[in-house]
Amino acid sequence: MFFLYKILTKTRMSRIFPCIFYKLTGYQCPGCGTQRALHSLLHLKIKQGLLYNQILILAIPLVLLLIYLEHFNGKNRFPKLYKTLSGKTFIMITLIFILIYWVGRNVTILPSLPPP
Ligand SMILES: [Zn+2]
Repeated sequence: MFFLYKILTKTRMSRIFPCIFYKLTGYQCPGCGTQRALHSLLHLKIKQGLLYNQILILAIPLVLLLIYLEHFNGKNRFPKLYKTLSGKTFIMITLIFILIYWVGRNVTILPSLPPP
């Protein structure tokens, strides 16, 4: 997967998934810059990745943890953590955080690079 992404992003297909929300409204969605942020991370340009999409960089450790808990017997080893992260409260907090991020990146509270 890593090498496929590296090959694809070196070709002219560097913009595989243009953002429809951005094209229609001129505002960035929470996912805008994800592809460019991943590309930057793969090239170990973490600061540049943060400028493209901060929430992705913050979400990567959480996603890895959730994959571990769900698919590698983590929920039996850490049942309390699994229950907390799969609970309604955590999901609501995550959604609120995403909404705040969505607004924040469009009113220039957060530094970000707009889509090309
Ligand atoms: Zn977008």
